[in-house]
Amino acid sequence: MSKVGVIGGGPAGCLAAATAAFAGADVTLIERNGRIGRKLLITGKGRCNVTNACPDINDFIDNVPVNGRFLFSGLSKFMTYDTMALFEGLGVPLKTERGDRIFPVSDKSSDIADALLAHLKKSGAKLVTDTRVTDVTFENPGFRVACEGGRTYSFDKLILATGGASYRATGSTGDGYGFAESLGHTVVPLFPSLVPIESSDPCCREMMGLSLKNVAVSICDKDSKKPVYTDFGEMLFTHFGVSGPVILSASSHIRTMSPGQYTLSIDLKPALTEEQLDARILRDFSKQPNRDFCNSLGELLPSKMIPVIVGRSGIDPHKKVNQITREERSALVSSLKDFTVPLTNFRPLNEAIITSGGVDTKEIDPKTMESKLVPGLYFAGELIDVDAYTGGFNLQIAFTTGYTAGISINDNRGDRMFNIAIDGPGGAGKSTISKAVSKELGFIYVDTGALYRAIGLYCLRNGIKTDDADKVSAALSEVSVDFTYIDGEQRVMLNGEDVSTDIRLPEVSMAASNVSAIPAVRKFLLELQRKIAREKDVLMDGRDIGTVILPDAQLKIFLTASAEVRAKRRFDELTAKGKEVSYDDVLRELIERDYQDSHREIAPLRQADDAVLVDTSDMTFDEVKERIIQLYKERK
Ligand code: C5P
Repeated sequence: MSKVGVIGGGPAGCLAAATAAFAGADVTLIERNGRIGRKLLITGKGRCNVTNACPDINDFIDNVPVNGRFLFSGLSKFMTYDTMALFEGLGVPLKTERGDRIFPVSDKSSDIADALLAHLKKSGAKLVTDTRVTDVTFENPGFRVACEGGRTYSFDKLILATGGASYRATGSTGDGYGFAESLGHTVVPLFPSLVPIESSDPCCREMMGLSLKNVAVSICDKDSKKPVYTDFGEMLFTHFGVSGPVILSASSHIRTMSPGQYTLSIDLKPALTEEQLDARILRDFSKQPNRDFCNSLGELLPSKMIPVIVGRSGIDPHKKVNQITREERSALVSSLKDFTVPLTNFRPLNEAIITSGGVDTKEIDPKTMESKLVPGLYFAGELIDVDAYTGGFNLQIAFTTGYTAGISINDNRGDRMFNIAIDGPGGAGKSTISKAVSKELGFIYVDTGALYRAIGLYCLRNGIKTDDADKVSAALSEVSVDFTYIDGEQRVMLNGEDVSTDIRLPEVSMAASNVSAIPAVRKFLLELQRKIAREKDVLMDGRDIGTVILPDAQLKIFLTASAEVRAKRRFDELTAKGKEVSYDDVLRELIERDYQDSHREIAPLRQADDAVLVDTSDMTFDEVKERIIQLYKERK
């Protein structure tokens, strides 16, 4: 049994330790504080925004502006719904709030920290608290970990999960960067991300404590004169400058901050056009024509802001409002629609919610989180140079990388099955080619389209409209789909009945395409597909095998051909079977299905980054087969 050390008891370290221990390792987690998850306790204003309900990996990655693609493989092992299932399974009910943010129903971050601790204890991992690690050395093989007070530990494998350098008071002092560097890793220079911003404008201090809701903000770059970020929501003035949700989000879009480079522009009345705002001001003025200007804005603005706006408008504060000119009103409207605040600096690192920068992702294997430089060393959590927007994404990254490191640490690579993923549009010849290649290589062939077809068939037979996501999702509880193999031939079983022939009826194609756009259906079939691939050498084909189902496949192929060639092949195949179809109808159906498969929100058809493109338009059957076999031999 391998001895695994985990340094850092935050969300990443705890999940890594528990996962590795559940998988059979002898795990010790070392945490410098007296308890685990101290920083977790203060996240989400003490409520803990534990993840985001985002169900799709690509959408998730869109929320990770720095090195998002690095997470692809990890997310396919441990996604947002896995985090939710984990905590609900540990007895913490969750709820969804604005922006799909997930919180514990109790609004208590301590429930999440307690659940992690319970998970850790159940796994059998040993927890050593109040112990600060001072030095980590690679002993090739294995590691020696020295702690304050002279205590040392020896481990076969080590997971570094010491967190970033933000919120120092919670223990995130950034020690892990030093360990990573001493072991030969590159650390991308740290800078704060999701951090309040300082301004030289004294108006901020004047309005300190004032929070503005429903304002539109944009950050403009002096050189390009273009906004680098725009957002709508809540912000706050402080003694040093500006803060609050939209400012924190904006900060992660500014990579190099220098005084004078960026200006914040706030539209205080985003719901009104300039004309509408002017009319509104006129209306307010006409209610009290003899008032001094400085006393006339009470309905329009919070009181702390009035002197600032009065000053910026250039209008004499004691001018009677009925004497204010159109030009003066126009200046007032401008200062309300474009309230500018020059930005000078980020607040210091220790005030940042997350730290950007960290261990270079190029030096970490994204499939396992193992170092590419030091065998047996793994990374998890904020230490890695990956950085997301607010909304639960950063904690999910901690869970994803923690789980991935924990599950990979026991992997016996020698036992791993060889998986070939063939994706591509309908009619590209995937199934015919795949059958032939599988036979030659002695692989099991898995046609995943058949699974979607079986569900489509079930709906057609039972009068369930295949584009009604709720009805189809509800019907899944009545459905069981599985494969059996008769003489090496895949047969598809729907509730115990062999439907391999019926699913090829032409009307089932569109039904399958419809149901496959429903997230619940994809999720329903995901585990079945992965299970088969874990147990056997498989060649699996479909639309999302290389991108979602088997992102770790050793060989990925994107098999395609022009729509005309594909339609011709499908037409020949159908007429050979005695089916009466027209070529035009086949082509139209194919194009429609292509469009639908590649434009759906969830798992759209696309070529995986590491897939080999094979365009079969001008290739013979044998040429395609040989090409794939040759690619396999190169990777074996
Ligand atoms: O490959 P086949 O034409 O049998 O697939 C039928 C339909 O099922 C496809 O048009 C596609 O919408 C869906 N499908 C999918 N993901 C897969 C396989 C098939 O979405 N892995």
